[in-house]
Amino acid sequence: MATEQVKKINSKIPEGPVAEKWTNYKAHQRLVNPKNKLKLDVIVVGTGLAGASAAASLGEMGFNVLNFCIQDSPRRAHSIAAQGGINAAKNYQNDGDSVYRLFYDTVKGGDYRAREANVYRLAEVSNNIIDQCVAQGVPFAREYGGMLANRSFGGAQVSRTFYAKGQTGQQLLLGAYSSLSAQVQAGKVKLFTRYEMEDVVIVDGRARGIIAKNLVTGKLERFSANAVVIATGGYGNAYFLSTNAMGCNCTAAVQCYRKGAYMANPSYVQIHPTCIPVHGDKQSKLTLMSESLRNDGRIWVPKKLEDAKKLQEGTLQGWEIPEEDRDYYLERRYPAFGNLVPRDVASRAAKERCDKGFGVNNTGLAVFLDFSESINRLGLDAMKQRYGNLFDMYEEITDVYPGDLANEINGVKYYKPMMIYPAIHYTMGGVWVDYELQTSIPGLFAIGECNFSDHGANRLGASALMQGLADGYFVLPYTIQNYLADQAIWPRISTDLPEFAEAEKAVDAELSRLLNIKGKRSVDSIHKELGHIMWEYVGMGRTAEGLKTGIQKMKELQKEFDTNLFVPGSKEGLNVELDKAIHLRDFFTMGELVAHDALSRNESCGGHFREEYQTEEGEAKRDDANYFYVGCWEYQGADKDPELIKEPLEYEAIKVQTRNYKN
Ligand SMILES: Cc1cc2nc3c(=O)[nH]c(=O)nc-3n(C[C@H](O)[C@H](O)[C@H](O)COP(=O)(O)OP(=O)(O)OC[C@H]3O[C@@H](n4cnc5c(N)ncnc54)[C@H](O)[C@@H]3O)c2cc1C
Repeated sequence: MATEQVKKINSKIPEGPVAEKWTNYKAHQRLVNPKNKLKLDVIVVGTGLAGASAAASLGEMGFNVLNFCIQDSPRRAHSIAAQGGINAAKNYQNDGDSVYRLFYDTVKGGDYRAREANVYRLAEVSNNIIDQCVAQGVPFAREYGGMLANRSFGGAQVSRTFYAKGQTGQQLLLGAYSSLSAQVQAGKVKLFTRYEMEDVVIVDGRARGIIAKNLVTGKLERFSANAVVIATGGYGNAYFLSTNAMGCNCTAAVQCYRKGAYMANPSYVQIHPTCIPVHGDKQSKLTLMSESLRNDGRIWVPKKLEDAKKLQEGTLQGWEIPEEDRDYYLERRYPAFGNLVPRDVASRAAKERCDKGFGVNNTGLAVFLDFSESINRLGLDAMKQRYGNLFDMYEEITDVYPGDLANEINGVKYYKPMMIYPAIHYTMGGVWVDYELQTSIPGLFAIGECNFSDHGANRLGASALMQGLADGYFVLPYTIQNYLADQAIWPRISTDLPEFAEAEKAVDAELSRLLNIKGKRSVDSIHKELGHIMWEYVGMGRTAEGLKTGIQKMKELQKEFDTNLFVPGSKEGLNVELDKAIHLRDFFTMGELVAHDALSRNESCGGHFREEYQTEEGEAKRDDANYFYVGCWEYQGADKDPELIKEPLEYEAIKVQTRNYKN
């Protein structure tokens, strides 16, 4: 079983009140001598919002940046999938928002498991992000008078989400990409598309480069630099079915973990309440219906079990059920926040209704998201303006258009509702980083979704883009200089060093091992089975017994992977199956880490729900006396359980209390 130790990990948080820490930090840091910047190389792996913004900013500051991604263009990073928006504390609506309030909402939304100082910094720089993106020409939605428009997201009672229809991630990424392209043109950023980082190279205890596979030729190549930044996204695809893009993987992060970077809070996985329900076992992808829809859509199930049964049998339709027989259960249970409770709360509430038999589709695993009231009040055109592409996407997938008038009962018009159910969406856990976003390996930094930083046990909607861009545009470019200041005098590291040769040899051996198993099962079939185990035992409701079973089952399946996998083709040239096999190898490591962390945390908080630890009303029951820490896992070897190191949390500005969204 995993062992535990309590450590005060050096997170380099400056002294002073929370509101002054970042200002103090910037004032005191040792900036690299501007003349030396030109000699310093930085590898940035990833071109999502975090990676592209970091690479562009570092290039603009004078560093030589080598920027890698697995797609054929930086613009195809998973970040383009982001629909709903990005938070900032601009208070354009004059509804009482402030940096403090965004900070407070984020800490509370994360169920008091985030590092306080980091979150304050995030809230502080949030406003700069909007200015930066507007300057780049990002077409945020605007009010009639020209002001930037806002909408509301879960866990907040103010309207602070900036958006570009339902395509915010894409527009933000185009903005970041234009800045990146300017640096490519200026010769400060060199792009390596269709390259996959397979390993980080450590020389004398510091990250000095990477081994990357050219995905087109299949060749392994060595790259050295003064520092390495990974911005490689989350590990949601360990569950096989998720809202993440098919290419999302955790190979870079897991390889860094194997080389000594701690993995923090892996059990904090976000299950998003508004996804299109699973409709068969041939599916490889789940589709998100943005949380922004909860601004105008009301979530309900029937009040009567017999109505639910008829819905499941297909003999009754949602629009035939009158108002008085509908249970708007979020509005009933959480009157203060209603449909805009945080995602973990909304997901569990949906599961609770479905577990009790009130599910509304043929599998009994769905609830309605209904726009009838908003369409009746504001008109269909207003809804189309706000969510047009989401309505179209829903129709393309389900053949139902949510704006179609379907019935009229007692003078009330009812439109066809969407059906939704929770699905794996985002990972709050990730590579451990200190206040400077440096991992436990000197010279290795992690930003964006792949680090654990700011969201505690549950991320609020529209805060991932905020964090990714805060890290990339405003935090890392400052903090990395503190590390690089000492590095300016180092000569370029040669890729002929034995450390590079060994790392490359090990990657090559791994590729050969996978190709030579020559078993009978495809990568996808094993991945799907892993996903079932993860969802069943490490999913929305966890128990100690179930987690132990899950770990056991994962170990057995891993044996199957190691002995009965079939990867066609060879190492040369394009081999997508081989790349997927590498990813799956690392999803196994990550899956077990998620389960170990969940098993060690005998409490419920945010996205981590242990069924043994809940209140009488079914809410998460935290145990601050014993679990008020960041759980950092240290790799001990392939056949050994990882070791838990605890970074105690310290709060000075916010009183830690039980989350309340009722009043
Ligand atoms: C459907 C959907 C909708 C969402 N909507 C919102 C929203 O409205 N608001 C919000 O705030 N958040 C939203 N999110 C979350 C948000 O989109 C992500 O958290 C965020 O975009 C992650 O950005 P990133 O830069 O950290 O990583 P990613 O965008 O995942 O980029 C990862 C990058 O790393 C590269 N990479 C990965 N592995 C390797 C490797 N081994 N070698 C080389 N390169 C590698 C990839 O090529 C890619 O360039 C949404 C998520 C989903 C799934």
